[in-house]
Amino acid sequence: MFNSLSDRLTATFKNLRGKGRLSEADIDATVREIRRALLDADVAVPVVREFAAAVRERALGVEVSGALNPAQQVVKIVNAELVEILGGQTRSLQLAKTPPTVIMLAGLQGAGKTTLAGKLALALKEQGHTPLLVAADLQRPNAVTQLSVVADRAGVPVFAPHPGNTGATDPADDTVIGDPVSVAREGVAQARAKQHDVVIVDTAGRLGVDRLLMQQAADIRAAITPDEVLFVIDAMIGQDAVTTAQAFLDGVDFTGVVLSKLDGDARGGAALSVAKVTGRPIMFASTGEKLTDFEVFHPDRMASRILD
Ligand code: GDP
Repeated sequence: MFNSLSDRLTATFKNLRGKGRLSEADIDATVREIRRALLDADVAVPVVREFAAAVRERALGVEVSGALNPAQQVVKIVNAELVEILGGQTRSLQLAKTPPTVIMLAGLQGAGKTTLAGKLALALKEQGHTPLLVAADLQRPNAVTQLSVVADRAGVPVFAPHPGNTGATDPADDTVIGDPVSVAREGVAQARAKQHDVVIVDTAGRLGVDRLLMQQAADIRAAITPDEVLFVIDAMIGQDAVTTAQAFLDGVDFTGVVLSKLDGDARGGAALSVAKVTGRPIMFASTGEKLTDFEVFHPDRMASRILD
């Protein structure tokens, strides 16, 4: 991810090398290049516009004297703006004062929620927590099995709906009949009873945003009052990321974003747009299929990686 954006920005900065002082025309040309590079990387248009304006304003205001040459000053400004659109500070999980901490996952089908549930559970377990996974995705018949597999790999228990709760699979539409809201509620109650200090609730996703799905996620949220609602988004989906994120923000609301599939070679604009557009911090990044391919998201490190 970001290789091409990174190359484009580096080439732009190279053009400034050796310049003693930047004229307004130099700055405008540079900002134009940066704007093109961001648009080509699929960054959302309003985000690009704001970014370019901020870089221009700061570059025009730069003092001539100082330890940094003009090219270095522009890099510094772009770096600061990148950190800003990526959310500024690193934001860690908010743990409940009275356990269990309830974490709900939301996002489209295939976004990487189930995988993330395992990754998060493993990371928390390694920090000494005792997570319980809850399978409240009853939309796909094998979602419960998939979460159980992931839980096994992470070495943590899973609360899955008992028979009678899931009901039968309706072969006509591939839907498991059941009540995900009760499963989520029972899962949290189970965590409390068995003294798990964190409970991670996996929920259903559809291929596209869908009113019923959104209502279901909102109902689960209302039933379990989570401390964190993490919206998982596939960083490879490009421009669609912003509309999807906005739909989840309006329909369910979330406290943080997890970018998945950051190991992909897509253009990465989703990663660069979502925090700014939603006003919610990116908290974690998923970078592969293994449970250890997971990291806390640091806006400053990501910015440096892009400008490396
Ligand atoms: P869910 O439908 O949101 O629960 O998504 P899944 O967790 O089932 O993930 C969908 C697919 O993406 C699976 O094949 C995962 O192995 C894969 N996947 C999930 N996260 C990542 C990631 O960070 N990188 C890569 N390359 N693949 C991932």
